[in-house]
Amino acid sequence: MLTDWTALADTVLDGTPLTRDEALRVATAPDDELLAVLHAAFRVRRAHHGREVRVHVLQNAKSGVCAEDCAFCSQSLHFESEVSQYGMQSVDELVAGAAEAHEMGAVTFCIVTATRGPTNDEVETVCEATRQIKNRWSMEVCASLGLLKEGQAERLAEAGVDRYNHNLETSEEHFSNVVQTHDWADRVTTVQRAKAAGMEACCGGIVGMREETEDRVDLAMDLRGLGVESVPINLLNPRPGTPLESVDPLSPSEALKTLALFRFVHPKADVRIAGGREEILQQMQPLALYPANSLFTDGYLTTSGQERSEDHRMIRQAGFRPAVVGQGAAECAREKE
Ligand code: SF4
Repeated sequence: MLTDWTALADTVLDGTPLTRDEALRVATAPDDELLAVLHAAFRVRRAHHGREVRVHVLQNAKSGVCAEDCAFCSQSLHFESEVSQYGMQSVDELVAGAAEAHEMGAVTFCIVTATRGPTNDEVETVCEATRQIKNRWSMEVCASLGLLKEGQAERLAEAGVDRYNHNLETSEEHFSNVVQTHDWADRVTTVQRAKAAGMEACCGGIVGMREETEDRVDLAMDLRGLGVESVPINLLNPRPGTPLESVDPLSPSEALKTLALFRFVHPKADVRIAGGREEILQQMQPLALYPANSLFTDGYLTTSGQERSEDHRMIRQAGFRPAVVGQGAAECAREKE
């Protein structure tokens, strides 16, 4: 069936949620229509986020010692991967990382630990670091500490953590093919706890893990049901030693259509092009800025990435601009051209 992508964008801009069938059409659009799909997604992106790109910086605060078995992850103790192993960083180390992120012009500093879930001491370390960071800089703090137990979300929110990241990773149906040590429903509970405590939810997934296109659509729809404010989309960059090390990489056009799908389903959310950007998209990276309004700069948790100066150059050359701390989506949209 031929799709009028302009009409589809108009429907979304009018506030009508994309149907599952329409979402599937975006995800399976013919390659000949890729630029039309991206243009339509860009109209939705521009209406809510202008031409701003929100730059985030990650800090791996506890690395390579996770007891869970997520098949994509080189930080799992179940697999033989060569990654740094260290325990929870100190408050001083986290604040020093935030200082560097601030220097890089980050709007959000993301503190991530490789763990099933945090101990109360680890939560307190993140809380104290967050208080100090917020005292010094007007930068958002996002924490990604795994599954939260009762009461932990409230402590993080009280300390000033703006967002809690916990990805669903993939559809409920495909999840058990990727993770056995916990359930998809466990992840949903943590996202709900974070939101109930007053934090925004940063929740997305990874594409390219042998899932069907329908799984990507299901993930997008389920995230909409959870009302998440931020949707990071990782493009699997297969890690040596993990069960997914020999997966065929996504094509750039499939990755771009997936980003467009998430933009159409989540018109107002921060849609972030996350890990795997450089390896999967290569020279087509700038096109990802048409559906996505956010990216990580200067590398990821266990892999390096494009340097901050290159990212800023790419953003400007593509006709976008890095967002300024404190500038919300409404202001960005007002500046749209
Ligand atoms: S819970 Fe997180 S750190 Fe642990 S194996 Fe899964 S993805 Fe990796």
